[in-house]
Amino acid sequence: MKTIVNKKNILIFIVSLVVMLLVASILLYFFLTRDKLVFKLIGEEVLTVEVYAQYNEPGIQATVDKKDLSSNVVIDDSKVDMNKVGTYEIIYKINYEDKEFQLVRTVKVVDTEKPTLTLKGKEEITIEEGSVYQDPGCYVVDNYDPKVKDKIQITNYVNTSEVGVYEVVYSVVDESGNKNSVTRKVVVKPKGDTNKDNYINLMDSNQITNMVFINDGIYIEGYVKDNNGNFKIKVCKDNQKDCVSYDMNKKDDYYYYGNIKLSSLDNGIYYMWIESEISEKVIDKLDMQYRIVRAKLGNKLVTFDYDHNNVKIIVDDFSYQYDILIDPGHGGSDPGASNNIIDEKQLNLIQSLYEKKRYEEHGLKVLLLRNDLSYGMTMGDSSWPPVRKKAYALGFYGVVSKITYSNHHNSSEDPNLSGWEIIVPATSSQEYLSNIYKIKDRWKKSYPTLEEHTRIYTRNYNTNSIFTKEDNNKYYFTDYYAVLRVPYQLFHVNNVLFEGSYLSNSKDFDWYYTKNNWKKLSEDKIRTYVEALGIEYIEP
Ligand SMILES: [Zn+2]
Repeated sequence: MKTIVNKKNILIFIVSLVVMLLVASILLYFFLTRDKLVFKLIGEEVLTVEVYAQYNEPGIQATVDKKDLSSNVVIDDSKVDMNKVGTYEIIYKINYEDKEFQLVRTVKVVDTEKPTLTLKGKEEITIEEGSVYQDPGCYVVDNYDPKVKDKIQITNYVNTSEVGVYEVVYSVVDESGNKNSVTRKVVVKPKGDTNKDNYINLMDSNQITNMVFINDGIYIEGYVKDNNGNFKIKVCKDNQKDCVSYDMNKKDDYYYYGNIKLSSLDNGIYYMWIESEISEKVIDKLDMQYRIVRAKLGNKLVTFDYDHNNVKIIVDDFSYQYDILIDPGHGGSDPGASNNIIDEKQLNLIQSLYEKKRYEEHGLKVLLLRNDLSYGMTMGDSSWPPVRKKAYALGFYGVVSKITYSNHHNSSEDPNLSGWEIIVPATSSQEYLSNIYKIKDRWKKSYPTLEEHTRIYTRNYNTNSIFTKEDNNKYYFTDYYAVLRVPYQLFHVNNVLFEGSYLSNSKDFDWYYTKNNWKKLSEDKIRTYVEALGIEYIEP
């Protein structure tokens, strides 16, 4: 009896178990085949991209069953800066069934491009035993490192007191650690070897090594083939007719320097010749930055055009084309300073457009280097960094504009910094500075946080990296102000940088931007410049 009961119980147990398993399997089946989100990256989890390249998003898979939900994915790639070497994260987020799913892709922006070194002068130079070896130097450019020029190392093994073949090695390592080098061969020939051709190629004879505008012409330095006689520079129309000759000073046997007056030349196109024992056309061996430069010299507009290596000088009567040239700082992929309300490039544009409109109400002719959020007008070589191309355009158009300035706004990691800055070149004339001081005085009255934040830096171009503050303290900074330096050095244009306020200081910014007080400061500028041009100021 007992055994029968047990058998029955076992049967019931087995049947229940089978039923339970069946139910569980059905549940499991439905669980497994229910609509599940598939969320994964397409392509590599860690992407390496070359700086300045375009970032191509490989995409993401977000599907449920066969339904594509990828358009619901929020991609945050705002941290990625393709113009800056670094490691960045892209975050992908999707909400599905009230749950947030997140994926991360790492983007490594790298610079693997080597700097390019190009020898100035000949690859092989032959000199006479006992003579002085003048190294012509080397150009270096890099795709990313703007300061690569300062990093060039020259190892000169030349021993001119001993006949032989030597090397000069130029090497450079850019900011990202990319190395490159180039070598020049220097042959030291026995003394008395009268075959002049063996050593007259000491330098490319007609090489200019320096050229800057002076008040009525240019100061020039360069090498010449022979060391006899006096060096002269001839500036000639129509090849070698109608020439004006200028005596040059001798620095050593192959090196000349001196001033050339150009303001008295008739209008026309000229070429330059260097004359000593022989006569040769002067060609460009300068850095490419000198490709085209122009300046107002006396009553003439003198343009140097180094196209195709010919130094073409175009002399024309000078006339202004614009009253005011405004450079709204930054633009394009360069936003400038930023806070969570606005980018500097946008604020600079708003302000510049306002000022343009106001000047035009006074009947003035205004040129803006950009009218939208793009980078705007640039000039020069496509390989140059954008700020240099901008600085170049600023100089080129600044020459024919009575007043030139750049609008900027500051930012600092220190949130307490506030106020405005005016930055002017040290070489500015007194007349030019008097307008700046007028603006400064007006800003002091208009601006509430004046005392700690009055900054007028001036730049000493001769020492190249020293700024002198108003109080005559000296400050050593790296020079970032290409828009001040390039227009002055290459075009004789005095530019000024107005930094309106600190975007990084919320109190400052609130007063300046939110409460619209920037217009007050703009009006101070407009009043000063309008009056400087001899026009009566009209209130807005
Ligand atoms: Zn700026």
